[in-house]
Amino acid sequence: MKKEILLYFFLSALLTASTSTLTGCASKSTTEAAASATTTTAPAAENTSPPSITLTVPAAVTAASAAASTDATGNIENPASTETVKIELKKVADLANKAAATTEPDHGNTHAATEHTHEATGVAPDVAFGWLKNGNLRFSKQYLRRDGQGKKDIQRLAEGQKPHSIVLSCSDSRVPPELVFDQKLGEIFVVRTAGQALDANAIGSIEYAIEHLGAKNLIVLGHSKCGAVKAAMGTLAGGDAGSPSLNHLVQDIHPRLAEFKGLPASANLVTESWANVRGVAKDLSTRSEIIAGKIKSGEIKVHSGLYDLQSGVVDFK
Ligand SMILES: [Zn+2]
Repeated sequence: MKKEILLYFFLSALLTASTSTLTGCASKSTTEAAASATTTTAPAAENTSPPSITLTVPAAVTAASAAASTDATGNIENPASTETVKIELKKVADLANKAAATTEPDHGNTHAATEHTHEATGVAPDVAFGWLKNGNLRFSKQYLRRDGQGKKDIQRLAEGQKPHSIVLSCSDSRVPPELVFDQKLGEIFVVRTAGQALDANAIGSIEYAIEHLGAKNLIVLGHSKCGAVKAAMGTLAGGDAGSPSLNHLVQDIHPRLAEFKGLPASANLVTESWANVRGVAKDLSTRSEIIAGKIKSGEIKVHSGLYDLQSGVVDFK
């Protein structure tokens, strides 16, 4: 039985060291989120940094591990070496614990300073905007977070949500905001319509997130080669988009593209899509007293972004 315990310790310590090395502060963030589960429904502590914990397994461990090889039943064959393994693996475990306890996550911009305070007041718009920019950088570099979508996160959020941002985006299947901004459960409130077309339902959804959920950063996200923009351009001079509902949709977009009537389309419809995004951002305040009031008071900020289908990068202007 003693040998089995030592083997268990050996494997556990290796697993601890390996996990810490691979996930760095992602592990810490998850732990912190779990620790706060009883007191807050705030989003999981966002991990915007590369792994920051690097553990070096002492050479003696490697040597001792090789010496203490196991037989087919998993029992350690060389008991004489197990004491060395035990001592050295304890050093590794201590290193891992020390690193997890003392390594402060590097959250890129200003996240670290505020990550534990936003549950009471909501995240400041500039801070939340920085998180989304960092998230898109991670996405475009394919260096994605691993926290924020586990069972504990599901349970933590069951009692309520406090998203730090609202994203109004096109419904295009290639531009899901949670993915392109590398955000997880409970972190962004997403409203999607083709071409970010506005109606009372879309605006009301955004107003709800501002008034009742405390989100202060609002992103209007369009993208290159937008089919809805193309359809709106194709019907600028009149014509049927295909159904009463489709006509209703493109008619909302038409005024924002009026300046392009009769002109050749830009490459990948980038120019027209930018005009649409900016127009939506402007229309939000002209069509919603709540949004206009919050912008005027500085409580919320609105940013326009365009996602590039080729690079995965969101350009903000
Ligand atoms: Zn689109």
